[in-house]
Amino acid sequence: MTTNHDLFQRALARMPGGVNSPVRAFKSVGGEPFFTARADGAFLFDVEGKRYIDYVGSWGPMIVGHAHHLVLRALNEVMRNGTSFGAPTPREIEMARRICGALPAVERVRLVSSGTEATMTALRLARAATGRPKIVKFDGCYHGHADALLVRAGSGAMTLGVPDSPGVPEATASQTLVARFNDLDEIETRFRAEGETIAAVIVEPVVGNMGLVPPQPGYLEGLRRITAEHGALLIFDEVMTGFRLAWGGVQNTMGIRPDLTCLGKVIGGGMPLAAVGGRRDVMELLAPIGAVYQAGTLSGNPLAVAAGLTTLDLLDKPGTYEKLEALGARLEAGLSAALSRHGRRGCINRRGSMWTLFLGVEQVRNADDARACDTAAFARYFLAMLERGIYLPPSQFEAAFISLAHTEDDIDRTIKAADEALGE
Ligand code: PMP
Repeated sequence: MTTNHDLFQRALARMPGGVNSPVRAFKSVGGEPFFTARADGAFLFDVEGKRYIDYVGSWGPMIVGHAHHLVLRALNEVMRNGTSFGAPTPREIEMARRICGALPAVERVRLVSSGTEATMTALRLARAATGRPKIVKFDGCYHGHADALLVRAGSGAMTLGVPDSPGVPEATASQTLVARFNDLDEIETRFRAEGETIAAVIVEPVVGNMGLVPPQPGYLEGLRRITAEHGALLIFDEVMTGFRLAWGGVQNTMGIRPDLTCLGKVIGGGMPLAAVGGRRDVMELLAPIGAVYQAGTLSGNPLAVAAGLTTLDLLDKPGTYEKLEALGARLEAGLSAALSRHGRRGCINRRGSMWTLFLGVEQVRNADDARACDTAAFARYFLAMLERGIYLPPSQFEAAFISLAHTEDDIDRTIKAADEALGE
């Protein structure tokens, strides 16, 4: 039998770190990744035949569960007519209509293939629209791996960015200001000092990338007010939260209209699809109408659009988000009880079907709080859960995802496993 270990050795021989995206390598939790053979509903099966209840969900897209028969049927049907044309197709219009219909702030939209492309294009548009060079991002928010966004703060107050990765020029990083999430005073001060140079603030409205961290009441409203006062754009990166936490996105539930919105993950239903959209005047700066260049060989790919449209159809039904909320609440209650039963210090942050169990801290409101977590304890917990057939994101600083394919029974089995894992 081919084992996970054998495959990892073979992968290491040809691929840096044995993987095609870093977190997959389990570096921050130790151990070796398993190799997936297939997936079905809420489950992954590795090449050794072991089954896992999956809370990674391909990092968010699989909200209707893996290998949903209607998504597969749509893919099969579309595939018969060819897989890519590099020319317009009718379904792209339907996807654009669905996105604009669901998000009042999105008047025009462009489809791309990854979240990274969406945020990169949003920044270019914001700079072109304002004629200003700088952008503000938040420590601990991840917006893909474009140079300007691979920057984090020194601790504490907003600082001029330093690159997070070798290969990002200082000159690029210096145009990125990094602020502390959930601290409105800091943003206010910075805008008073240099607002006329700031093109945009980009934010995950509910953060998934320092673990799940919700905004405090009034925070996003404050960002909207301050950016508008200073003529800067507000970009909501809803690549993770879009159609995940609510139909449309977090902006709908809060009644906030960002200037630009980035989408990804769920709108592609597990295929490479993402989008940037927003105000018509800003979006129409894009080529071919305007001079801001952006393009993609596979943009609006027919298979990706078909998988995405079917996924959106499955979500656009009464009770969908209520069901995800109920499953999330059940899991949260069970995990909280397990934490207290074992006298473990920790907290659970959750919004709907996105959640993170943080160990070693009482609360997490920003990246500094997240960095104070006991990551060694998290690694032990992760591996103990994996052993029990529960696949969590392999890092303390990631959100976990529940899908519509998860059942109360899956949730209860997860709670039981966590109770054992936290008691070890
Ligand atoms: N923005 C957010 C909020 C994300 O979570 C991610 C990916 N996890 C991205 C952007 C980048 O998307 P992609 O990996 O498709 O480039």
